Amino acid sequence: MFWVVTPILPCATACANGQITRLNPLPHTRDVHIISRPPALQALHGCPNMTTGLHRTARRTHSFTESVIREMTRVAREHEAVNLAQGFPDFPAPELLKEAAAAAIRADINQYAITWGAPNLRHALARKYLEHYGMEVDTETEITITCGGTEAMASVMLAVVDPGDEVIVMEPFYENYGPDAVLCEAKPVFLTLEAPEYRLEKAMLEEAVSSKTRAIVINTPNNPTGRVFDREEMQAIADVCIKHDILAITDEIYEHIYYEGEHLPLATFEGMRDRTITISGLSKTFSVTGWRIGTIIAPPQLSGAIRKVHDFLTVGAPAPLQEACAVGLNELPQEYYTDMVAGYKARGEVLVKGLQDAGFKCQYPQGAYYVLADFSDLSDEDSMTFGRRLASEGGVAPVPGGSFFSDPSRGHSLARFVFCKQIQTLHEASERLKAFATRG
Ligand code: GLN
Repeated sequence: MFWVVTPILPCATACANGQITRLNPLPHTRDVHIISRPPALQALHGCPNMTTGLHRTARRTHSFTESVIREMTRVAREHEAVNLAQGFPDFPAPELLKEAAAAAIRADINQYAITWGAPNLRHALARKYLEHYGMEVDTETEITITCGGTEAMASVMLAVVDPGDEVIVMEPFYENYGPDAVLCEAKPVFLTLEAPEYRLEKAMLEEAVSSKTRAIVINTPNNPTGRVFDREEMQAIADVCIKHDILAITDEIYEHIYYEGEHLPLATFEGMRDRTITISGLSKTFSVTGWRIGTIIAPPQLSGAIRKVHDFLTVGAPAPLQEACAVGLNELPQEYYTDMVAGYKARGEVLVKGLQDAGFKCQYPQGAYYVLADFSDLSDEDSMTFGRRLASEGGVAPVPGGSFFSDPSRGHSLARFVFCKQIQTLHEASERLKAFATRG
């Protein structure tokens, strides 16, 4: 049996007329059905019309595009479509958080926080990790607070990944990981998890490892598939990391949003604490995606490097909002978390039914708040064409499935829809989807 591991190839076709084709945030790729290594950084040397003259741009920017997720939000606005593209809530954040933020601003906590995070938030976070997961975290040497999970992932990779290293990324993926690796001049090696189970087998992971593998990125609960890795899969990742002396970089931003199974932080597995960098944040947990509060837990030596990168990129995350997140972590009761999950479950059921009634094939996710739906019974179009048409003609904006794969054709008939929206927003979207499907 073969698994698909995709190397990067030059991006020349993406650069015609100096335009980046916005099909995928990653360089053009070629599929191989055996494990194969990418040629040395070829993806970084294309696009000659961008590499000379006054307005030349740095080569490292040529091999990926803008975020398709953010682009689809702009498309949604343009067409006044219901935005089921970008994962942000359209309902209010908790009063407690808003009051705490306002109070912090009034108390004049308006200057830089300590670059790696306000003490109140670091202490609140350490308490959370101990209470939720039995994980001891040193507030002084192991925590870095960043401008969202996005900056966290970029700072971590820049701090621990060298040019020429390989970083294993499972696909379908959240679109940042590949470009983050490319910015480090490292090579993303893509490992495809197959629908509908999206299950990770240890042998697949073993096959993707080489002597150059520096890190594996693990996102559970997963965006966009909704998979929550079980204990066996997490143990497989731990075994491979330990055997080959590889770092694990986890994206656990949906750690509190799951409907089946349980969230198992990789850092709590035996032998993994010292080789796991745990990324999370408060955007999704507290419905404050615009606050940009991300968190990193890493062993002291790695934290030292991560903090340097973070400091020179952003100095620090917004000080009053860090204070408010500390209040949220300390004071929101357990019911807040159970109610949040129940709320998302109800919303997800409305969306899944709406999609199925309109003719999409999809299943209820195990976690996070996305549905990856197959539209092949509705259209033969590729995912970008269909996604744009659904936004402009149908009034509902999804994210085209191709943007979650190194080779967009693998997501040809897929579209991702979010359900972190009010129930009435999801009912309105369902009506529009049905009308669109009926019109054909
Ligand atoms: N995680 C969200 C999504 O996948 C939002 C990403 C973002 O725009 N930062 O849609």
